[in-house]
Amino acid sequence: MSDIPQYHLVINGESCAPASGEYADVINPATGEVVGSAAMGGAADVDQAVAAARAAFNQREWREMPPAERSRLLYQCAQLVLANAQELIGLEISCSGATLNRASNLDIPAVADLWMNLAEAVKVYPFVEAQSPRPLPEQWHSQVWKEPVGVCGLITAWNFPLLLYSWKVGPALAAGNTIVIKPSEMTPTSSIRLTEILQEVLPPGVLNIVNGDGPSVGDAMTLHPDIDKISFTGSTRVGKIVQTNCATTMKRCTLELGGKGPGIVLPDADLDMVAQGSLWAVYMNAGQACESGTRLLVHEDVYDELLEKLAARSAEVVVGNPADPATGVGPMSTEAHFHKVMGYIETGVAEGARIVCGGEPAEVPGCEGGFYVQPTVLADVTNDMRVAREEIFGPVLAVIRYRTEEEALALANDSDYGLSAGIWTTDLIKAQRLARDLRAGSVWINDWHMMRTDAPFGGYKQSGYGRELGRYSIDSYVETKSVSMSFERVPQKKAMQRIVHTKMA
Ligand code: NAD
Repeated sequence: MSDIPQYHLVINGESCAPASGEYADVINPATGEVVGSAAMGGAADVDQAVAAARAAFNQREWREMPPAERSRLLYQCAQLVLANAQELIGLEISCSGATLNRASNLDIPAVADLWMNLAEAVKVYPFVEAQSPRPLPEQWHSQVWKEPVGVCGLITAWNFPLLLYSWKVGPALAAGNTIVIKPSEMTPTSSIRLTEILQEVLPPGVLNIVNGDGPSVGDAMTLHPDIDKISFTGSTRVGKIVQTNCATTMKRCTLELGGKGPGIVLPDADLDMVAQGSLWAVYMNAGQACESGTRLLVHEDVYDELLEKLAARSAEVVVGNPADPATGVGPMSTEAHFHKVMGYIETGVAEGARIVCGGEPAEVPGCEGGFYVQPTVLADVTNDMRVAREEIFGPVLAVIRYRTEEEALALANDSDYGLSAGIWTTDLIKAQRLARDLRAGSVWINDWHMMRTDAPFGGYKQSGYGRELGRYSIDSYVETKSVSMSFERVPQKKAMQRIVHTKMA
């Protein structure tokens, strides 16, 4: 018998094999080795998981749980994450190529913080709000109720499996929904394990997981007549399919999609800070982050000086085995993705860009089977090139020259995407003015990736819609109901009814 660990589906509180009996290898992108075998679900498994989630929703106990009790449960989820941190970190590294540094210092603290934040948010969330009373004697009074949407289908991408999982599962639970989640079939192990762990505190059927690919499990979810809402994180290309499928049953739908984050460098900026910060912006997770700063728009007066600093600092970045604490940049997620990133570098050069540093596959001793790309800076990029318009999703920075502030703003906004944007300057008044004109869901001034678990995150334009994180994320998982009560018991005094009963005395 093989000692490769198996990861199953979790339906109605039980781990189970998929109806097809099919399992697929999970590959460690750092080495190319098989690190797990994960159940590949299909439409029949989705049906079962949805039925379990619907039954759990119909049991009033879960959806009507008082906020204080739900808050305690969300705290327990945070504690379970922390208690199992070492195992989850190991899985995150081996399935997704996350560096040890990132998984331990960013992902796990942020995941635990998110659950704790929701535990606080749920206590004060306005599940019931009274409308302001009218002058007395009032004929009727109205309240606004926020109710769980129902059964939520959650679909996540491969680049931050545990974070993306928690961004969706946390608020969906906080609002009282039941869930069927599909992780990326490339990185399912940490999400499956966390689902198993959370069963300890959740009633059966509340949280179900069906791993599988997009065309089988993803389509089955987005077209399913008994799923009420889909929350999707992934590419804009697939997001469009998801939105179209959701329309067939008018499902609620929120979409967290791609980005092509522009950073504007004003001539007064501290160039050492920009060089270090803009490489953090693009190289975090080897550039495989939706909110990465991938286009750097630099004023002509400081263009050459900044390029020199970028090249020097970029060459210092340590590419290596993600499990090594000294590693700053790990591998590309898959071999196919590695070739895609290398292809983009070639396309950039063919279109007229100049490689200032990097541009080649990176050699990592001991990880010869891995998929590594050298941190790469491309100069002389213009905004019409493919490397400036499309998501490369690798450690590649496109540097674009501009002359005036108006031109910089126009270039920054000249993109299908609108997820993140940034400004590097010592003039904070000017920064605020520019921030107002940038068409992006997050604007960062003099740093990047400044995401908080209590601040909203999401896209403008083709980067999607809806917001995640904090109490704003609960808004995405509730329906709004208006409830009005009439106090007047004398029919003749119900003033509006005179519109029909015109003969009333
Ligand atoms: P992807 O779109 O290929 O896949 C995302 C998920 O969708 C996976 O689980 C996949 O199996 C599933 N899927 C594929 N086809 C489907 C279908 N027909 N129906 C339903 N689901 C389907 O994206 P990816 O390569 O996994 O992730 C990278 C992308 O995700 C990038 O574009 C990145 O910018 C984006 N992303 C966005 C955010 C955000 O918060 N905005 C966060 C992380 C990643």
